[in-house]
Amino acid sequence: MYYKQNKRAIYNGLIGVSFVLFLLGQVISDNILFSIFVIIIFVVCGIAIVHKMNQILSQKEQEIVLEKQSQSRQFGLVLAQLRTLITYLPYPMVLVDQTGNIELRNDSFELLLNDANTDELTITSKNIPFPLKRLLNDGYLNEESVTKVITLNTLEYQCISIPVLQKNRYKGSLIVMHDITKLLYQEKVQKRFVADASHELKSPITAIKGMVEILTRQDFDDDITEQDFMEQIKVETERLEVIVNNLLFLSKLNSKTILLNKQPLDIYSVVAECLRTFKLQINEKKIDVEITKTSQEPLIADAASLTTIFNNLIDNVCMYSEASKLVISIDDNTQEKVIKFCDNGIGIHEEDFTRIFERFYRVDDARNRATGGSGLGLNIVKELVEAHGGSIEVESVQNEFTRFIVKLPKLTKS
Ligand code: ADP
Repeated sequence: MYYKQNKRAIYNGLIGVSFVLFLLGQVISDNILFSIFVIIIFVVCGIAIVHKMNQILSQKEQEIVLEKQSQSRQFGLVLAQLRTLITYLPYPMVLVDQTGNIELRNDSFELLLNDANTDELTITSKNIPFPLKRLLNDGYLNEESVTKVITLNTLEYQCISIPVLQKNRYKGSLIVMHDITKLLYQEKVQKRFVADASHELKSPITAIKGMVEILTRQDFDDDITEQDFMEQIKVETERLEVIVNNLLFLSKLNSKTILLNKQPLDIYSVVAECLRTFKLQINEKKIDVEITKTSQEPLIADAASLTTIFNNLIDNVCMYSEASKLVISIDDNTQEKVIKFCDNGIGIHEEDFTRIFERFYRVDDARNRATGGSGLGLNIVKELVEAHGGSIEVESVQNEFTRFIVKLPKLTKS
């Protein structure tokens, strides 16, 4: 390019040098033909050299242009790949330029807008929900990293606004959002679990401690109270044992240290065996038990787990339901074995349907605490059913019936 711009100067130079050579030729020899000959030789060589240089340089220029074209093609390709990546990333993402225009946004971000059918968007556009608008503004106005948790449509998002700099000059902000609703919920559940576990363990310990303090007083001399306290201490100690055992069992289940020994099982026999364990309570409560089965097919499952599942469900009927009838049915659908436990007891209110499977949740705390349950039974049942790849549901109408439906997949032994 530089050479081309100065082409005229080079040709002028050649003419100038030729004229000087002509004068020199005249001075050295008087022969005009000799001077003209020298000039012609010089001009021809000069033009040839200039032509060659021209060729080399234009070739170089062409190479540079081609390289630039390939670089910009590659850049375009990378940009297109980046756009595709951003578009399909499950995290809402948006790129704001230095004038506040939204240059790039992905599908997940579009879902957060009040009206997604807008091409042009700026950080002040009406269809950006308020908390999001404030976040975009903060990142844009401060020109520095901003981290915030915002709530949008009942979901919690952890948002990071990262300034994009070029040669130390602010060019815009990249905002990445991560849905942390589940994470926060798990954290809340974990905290509640620790608080509930401490509370459940503390209550019997406090009761035992109080009674032991009275019993060990120097002046204590009351045989009837002593007998009563000893019985209560026994009950509370057993309750502590149940809670601790259940907690240990759950922790083993969660850390997957319990191995399921799956083998073909006759569900009817397992249920019948569990009913035998509760014979005393069933007789005491005068519960009429009926088992119906339409399926003979064995189920591949872990016998100990099924026994724990059925024992807990039968135990609850005896403990909580004031039932006079318990109907257990064993049926098949195409992919599952369906076992139902239906009693005609007090029932469960609809709002408690999901909560009864949570750890330590009891419908009627005071009444159920007195029965000695740990509030962990149904949680253990759910974990065991899910460890088999199955599911458990509850259907109930208060003061009419409660039906627990356990569905276990028909698996091949693994
Ligand atoms: P626990 O370990 O104390 O027995 P569960 O987790 O087994 O506790 O039960 C949780 C709650 O579900 C209890 O508060 C109980 O009131 C309720 N429940 C469970 N089964 C029945 C039932 N068959 N009828 C009525 N309420 C029930």
